[in-house]
Amino acid sequence: MSRVDFRSCTLLDDDDAQLEVGVLGRLMGRSKSLGNAVVVGDRVSFTIEGDRATIVEVEPRRNAFARRASGARPVGQVVAANLDQVVLVASAFQPRFREGLADRVLSQAEHSGLPARLVISKRDLDREHVAARILSDYARAGVPGHAVCSLTGEGIDELRHACETRRSLFLGHSGVGKSTLLNALSPGLALASGGVNRKTGKGRHTTSAAWLLRPRPGLELIDSPGVRTFGLWGVTARDLEQAYPEFRRFLGSCRFGDCRHGAEPACALREAVERGEVSERRFASFLNLRAELESEEERS
Ligand SMILES: [Zn+2]
Repeated sequence: MSRVDFRSCTLLDDDDAQLEVGVLGRLMGRSKSLGNAVVVGDRVSFTIEGDRATIVEVEPRRNAFARRASGARPVGQVVAANLDQVVLVASAFQPRFREGLADRVLSQAEHSGLPARLVISKRDLDREHVAARILSDYARAGVPGHAVCSLTGEGIDELRHACETRRSLFLGHSGVGKSTLLNALSPGLALASGGVNRKTGKGRHTTSAAWLLRPRPGLELIDSPGVRTFGLWGVTARDLEQAYPEFRRFLGSCRFGDCRHGAEPACALREAVERGEVSERRFASFLNLRAELESEEERS
């Protein structure tokens, strides 16, 4: 699927032809219990009757990237499926880098078994090399990084190379320049930022849909609406530490088997932070996020 909206879906066949399709009611019914029945990235079977194409089957997903939908009730929302990597787009300035958001998206990717990379855009605004410091923090967490400028083209070829043959989901806070970046990555595509959907007349950013771009064979970029907040889905307070890959080699070496890496003596993770092997900031963000998940778990 290249695009799934509230009512209609756009299907991209193996020859890159686009087709508007409906979804069989039976499949939509299933979505009530399982979350989204059809999402961008799904492989589907469909039938054509007259001028109407209908999806009749969705192939099992090899993976999916989900988030907690906004709203008080805990509901998961699958953003896209069958991915090879998640690309988090952020900026150091305008808007400033949001560490909490970055750590949430990266934890969700890790939890989903998806490699992630971090892109800091608007390099031209970064005269003090703030991006380099952010990226080195995440390099220690095993997340490859790119500092790019869509205007000058700096870093764009390297990023495109890193996306080659890897279906990539692009996520980012509103205003970080994700659409401009996707345009720079796919010349000739002329993706309008905040563009208008011909069919519904609604701006693209008013939908919650992700959208797959295939500027040429082998390059598959999935755009998604800008996020302001990101809720983890399917990650418990107990297994959050596993979603911080740089913690893993220290887990299990604490004196106490049930160590919470708080005030316990001989905590291997805290010692790693003190030695500078784990970023202090990432450790603090982990403690915050875990406390938040714990209070949510208590409430439900
Ligand atoms: Zn510990």
